[in-house]
Amino acid sequence: INMTEIQALYQQVILDHNKNPHNFGELDHADCSAEGLNPLCGDHINVFLNLDGNIISDIRFNGSGCAISKSSASIMTTLLKGKTIKEAEELFGKFHDLVTADFEEEYDEDDFGKLAVFAGVREFPARIKCASLAWHTLKSALDGNSIISTE
Ligand code: ZN
Repeated sequence: INMTEIQALYQQVILDHNKNPHNFGELDHADCSAEGLNPLCGDHINVFLNLDGNIISDIRFNGSGCAISKSSASIMTTLLKGKTIKEAEELFGKFHDLVTADFEEEYDEDDFGKLAVFAGVREFPARIKCASLAWHTLKSALDGNSIISTE
């Protein structure tokens, strides 16, 4: 899909996920968690993770915020369940480039393609922090947890 289609998809995807967020809630016995705040907009989310070795076996979020922060968290949790921590960090890097960089390319229907709608926030610079909040919160949850690898 190209940028024109992304702009059209952007609003619909965000409205859908805001209305029916995926993985919304708390994990009772989370292996790690973090709280994220975006004072500029008033977004406040918590991310909870369960890890099985270096695999994200479960992930949930809760909190309150604007439609963009909530839908971004919803999509992030959907993509990351079952991924390794390394894959999660790679997707975060790609997501960051996507919302901040000024480039145009064709997106495949892979995991990164599902994030491509957030290229729409480039039109609204103040919203980049809303879209990124869940990812930064995820990163701090992972960084605050020591992981033992048996590899
Ligand atoms: Zn926001």
